[in-house]
Amino acid sequence: MVTGGRARRRPIRSCVACGRTADKRDLIRVVRSPDGVVSVDATGKKSGRGAYLCPVAACLDTALKSRRLERGLSLPTPLPEQVVASLRAAMADLTAGAPGGAPHG
Ligand SMILES: [Zn+2]
Repeated sequence: MVTGGRARRRPIRSCVACGRTADKRDLIRVVRSPDGVVSVDATGKKSGRGAYLCPVAACLDTALKSRRLERGLSLPTPLPEQVVASLRAAMADLTAGAPGGAPHG
């Protein structure tokens, strides 16, 4: 028997660069695994410490300049170049997928 029809609360996260809050699926997650490897987490299911970023280049630039991703992930070293490249690629993907509107209604 199920009681209560309340919808499960959506996971809301905030961008480390601009502070905008959004459904976590609308943000890009960067994760530092327990063994210290940083990667872009497309599925949102990797374990480890995560930081979130809007899928826009401006927020990536802000985060890189002010080292907010490093801070968010408690990284002692600068974000690896390959992770930055992955982030740019992921954002380019998302941008290319939505040329000025939704694909369909
Ligand atoms: Zn942002």
